[in-house]
Amino acid sequence: MAIERTFSIIKPDATARNLTGAINALIEKAGLRIVAQKRIRMTRDQAETFYAVHKARPFFGELVDFMISGPVVVQVLEGEGAVLKHRDVMGATDPSKAADGTIRKLHAKSIGENSVHGSDAPETAAVEIAQFFSGNEIVG
Ligand code: UDP
Repeated sequence: MAIERTFSIIKPDATARNLTGAINALIEKAGLRIVAQKRIRMTRDQAETFYAVHKARPFFGELVDFMISGPVVVQVLEGEGAVLKHRDVMGATDPSKAADGTIRKLHAKSIGENSVHGSDAPETAAVEIAQFFSGNEIVG
């Protein structure tokens, strides 16, 4: 399998509970390397652009409000099959349906406040990474 990069966010519910290290430990244990990372506060514009694909969904407004409600940690993860590997470590969107041992099963509060984001395909990952990182901030 090819070495890929994926985009990850540790969301405000997780930074509020000081879970950045616990989540990073699960990411690294799965064999993914954190090749870029920064703690930021997203602007409303950034959050709306990032989740534009969900604009028509009923939860869009709440989702944007949540994503700007506190600091987030944005990351680039690298490894073999990184996109799928990270989705596996994250677990299902709804934590009540997430598999044992996954980040969302262990830490997420609800389907909305679900602790982490991960890209769903290499193409999306490239777009999402470019929204938050310049090339020289990523050190593989
Ligand atoms: N979300 C929500 N309510 C829903 C579905 C999704 O609040 O019914 C939020 C949740 O934070 C989720 C994000 O919207 O992580 C993006 O949804 P998606 O279906 O892309 O899930 P993901 O890829 O994050 O698992």
